[in-house]
Amino acid sequence: MPKYEDATDSGAGAARFTRRVEDFTCGHCERTVRGNGYTNHCPHCLWSRHVDVNPGDRAATCGGLMPPVAAGISKDAYFVVQRCEKCGHQRRNKTAPRDSRETILTYFGRPIPG
Ligand SMILES: [Zn+2]
Ligand SMILES: [Zn+2]
Repeated sequence: MPKYEDATDSGAGAARFTRRVEDFTCGHCERTVRGNGYTNHCPHCLWSRHVDVNPGDRAATCGGLMPPVAAGISKDAYFVVQRCEKCGHQRRNKTAPRDSRETILTYFGRPIPG
């Protein structure tokens, strides 16, 4: 028997079971993203999906796409602000070294809504 944690997430994607570290297909640019168990945004276009309350916990039931709306810098690290298209939830995400610097700069300095 394969052993993996049975997650409580029964979400819309019934064919997929949930693991903490999981590759996923970006809901926006459709590139395959290698999961690292922490971030769930796409390093190419920086879109995310509203599945976490805290990074990695998959506790949100919304599932809406979260496009980046702004980016900035704090304590020498870039962050990106993403806003859920479905419910309007907004969050600030630390960027990872693998994230596209070019894409981050596209949003850099835009006014942060809310
Ligand atoms: Zn993408
Ligand atoms: Zn949402």
